[in-house]
Amino acid sequence: MKLISISRSPKKKEEKKKTQKREQKKLTLPDAKTIRWIAAAGVSLLLVAALIIAIVLIISASDNDSRLAAVRDAVLSAREPIELKLASLEAMQYDYDSALARIEPFSSEAANELRSDIESEKQGLVAADNYAIPHIFFHSLIADTSKAFDGEYTEAGYNQVMTTIAEFNEMMRQMYERGYVLISLHDIAEVNPDGTVTEKQIMLPPEKKPFVLSVDDVCYYEYMDGDGFASRIVIGEDGKPTCEMKQDDGSIITGDFDVVPLLDKFVEEHPDFSYRGAKGILALTGYNGVLGYRTCPSYSDNPTYNDDVEAAKAVAQNLREHGWEFASHSWGHRNMGTISMENLRTDTQRWEDEVETIIGDTDILIYPFGADISGVKKYTEANERFVLLKSVGFDYFCNVDGNRAWLQIGKNYVRQGRRNLDGYRMYYDMINDKRDWLSDLFDVNTVFDKCRPLPVPPMG
Ligand SMILES: [Zn+2]
Repeated sequence: MKLISISRSPKKKEEKKKTQKREQKKLTLPDAKTIRWIAAAGVSLLLVAALIIAIVLIISASDNDSRLAAVRDAVLSAREPIELKLASLEAMQYDYDSALARIEPFSSEAANELRSDIESEKQGLVAADNYAIPHIFFHSLIADTSKAFDGEYTEAGYNQVMTTIAEFNEMMRQMYERGYVLISLHDIAEVNPDGTVTEKQIMLPPEKKPFVLSVDDVCYYEYMDGDGFASRIVIGEDGKPTCEMKQDDGSIITGDFDVVPLLDKFVEEHPDFSYRGAKGILALTGYNGVLGYRTCPSYSDNPTYNDDVEAAKAVAQNLREHGWEFASHSWGHRNMGTISMENLRTDTQRWEDEVETIIGDTDILIYPFGADISGVKKYTEANERFVLLKSVGFDYFCNVDGNRAWLQIGKNYVRQGRRNLDGYRMYYDMINDKRDWLSDLFDVNTVFDKCRPLPVPPMG
């Protein structure tokens, strides 16, 4: 198999070449799902074959040492096809060192060819500018536009701050075409055990551009019931996270009704869209429970309360296993910059007690309303809100910012601005020639969903 090589030829030619390479890759490299299937089914078959070969070799070998060597070689060569496929996948997701380490024991022609492909791609890598990485965010996606845009009092808000599934899919497709690669916030900088921060290098081929993605309020709030959104995240029959949606007649259907399963599938089909398996950040409040489960103690009279808590824990764990990360979005969706210190303390404690106990530790805080606890100057120990939030374990802080990318690396924290890709942002970018909020990511005219009632109401 061949990895995409970097060509300096004219653009059209380059694109044609890339398409050919992609076609080639399609022919020779199965997607992640197929690889996992092969890994599961193939390993057992191959090991049985290896065992038979080994037994034959052991019988025919003359001494113990050569018998052992024969067994080792037989097992190794049985493992090789799987290991090479996994190494190809790792290299496609930019983890060149892991891929090379995986191929290391092999010296067949196929292994040597893959090794030299990976080594040559590795030589062309460029460090990303961490200060130019866009962080985009969404809310739960509108799965059924006829229910969200039905003239009810909630319609205007959904039209402003939500994104439809069709829009999301087209955004991801165009961003992938433009070379965007999904990374984790933790790939940008690391907070060391002593509290200091070390900036990290994201090494990518020159035509690739990193971005961060988050989804706010993944709680499927009560007010959204019946409005065309998923109702909760569940673990599907294939062991992967998926969504449930309640139908008008009360029946439940399962499918790709929100960001999580849609993005998971997109990455499965385009492994090079994700840097080392990174997915998005899910920001959660606590007052209506999490992930569509009514886990807040105020629901403890529900007959299914204990089961819901356990189910939410299992789903959270499953999401982490699939590359998703979690963030606090405060317990009560409070403006953390303006509420009293006492309220901030109570709200934070409540989030830790009722949400973190379900989803596990997190060091990311995503401010509700995008409202930061101070201006653009660096946080200092004089800011008691920062001191409090830092003391309970938050190191990464995300606001909402008008810039295409905004990053601040403090001495003991990381702060990043986020961009809302919603109806409001798209509509006013589209109708106003002087506004250009989105053209670095996608062509808004081809993304904007024609189902939206117009005009999208202005904010405020
Ligand atoms: Zn929110």
